[in-house]
Amino acid sequence: MEIKTVGVIGAGVMGSGLAQNLAQTNHQVILIDISENILEQAKHEIIKNIRFQSFFRKDAKTNNSEEIIQKIKFTTNYQFLETAEFVIENATEKWNIKKDIYEKIDTICPEECIFSANTSAISITRIASVTNRVDRVLGMHFMNPVPMKPMVEMIRGYHTSNQTIEIAKQLLAQIGKESILVNDSPGFVSNRVLMLTINEAIFLLQDQVASVEDIDRIFKSCFGHKMGPLETADLIGLDTILFSIEVLYESFNDSKYRPCSLLKKMVDAGLHGCKNGRGFYSYN
Ligand code: NAD
Repeated sequence: MEIKTVGVIGAGVMGSGLAQNLAQTNHQVILIDISENILEQAKHEIIKNIRFQSFFRKDAKTNNSEEIIQKIKFTTNYQFLETAEFVIENATEKWNIKKDIYEKIDTICPEECIFSANTSAISITRIASVTNRVDRVLGMHFMNPVPMKPMVEMIRGYHTSNQTIEIAKQLLAQIGKESILVNDSPGFVSNRVLMLTINEAIFLLQDQVASVEDIDRIFKSCFGHKMGPLETADLIGLDTILFSIEVLYESFNDSKYRPCSLLKKMVDAGLHGCKNGRGFYSYN
């Protein structure tokens, strides 16, 4: 079964990358966010990224930005999802926002439509519980930037059916990706480890144990990582890091997930990382 029409909810860092990737692999995309301004920004970002990609890939089919943009319906109207065969949700990492979205799309989307959450930490079983299709909800944790990352952490919720997993794998194959399947638990495998690492790196900075650059250099030069934890935090978005670690803290009731106060201060100060030009590093 080939999936042709995919709803993408949230047009931020992840949603816009995903919409681009889907359109470049010949899917019709319904991209939804809460304001026309955000959608306009997403459109610019996608065009910029396609042009950037075309420097490295000489495949004319995936380089024609006009043709690719034509495949994406940019809209604030959820009603367009009534034709979606598959929905991938990438809205802000806050339970109340996601809960409202899933309740809404459950009434709009066709019964057989599969819902996939691209959440960083929220339990897939919890997300499925607000819908009437618990067997057709799963997690697909994409990596950032989506068009360039071939591997996805796939999460099976308590009720997710084998058929849902198979269809999700087929969709991933259609967009050139593979997956690693894990069972549901807040933060899954990747972010239960990564969010703690990043949070601890921020504590090290707060405690003046080392500078931003030296913390990152330890990971790059000593461990051979491509990026240090603070660079990674900037790439993900400091607001998303904070919301994710808060989800882990609430989910496990374990103090090891308490967010570092420097992280909270930076988010309050509007330092959200690469996406708005300033985080631990400056991007202008
Ligand atoms: P972001 O802040 O860049 O984008 C989130 C978008 O969701 C915003 O544009 C916001 O306007 C939109 N939104 C909020 N409420 C909405 C609603 N009711 N309907 C439609 N859109 C709504 O965040 P992001 O980095 O793109 O993260 C999105 C999701 O993906 C989060 O759950 C995050 O945890 C997850 N995620 C992020 C990364 C990463 O590296 N940034 C990686 C994997 C997964």
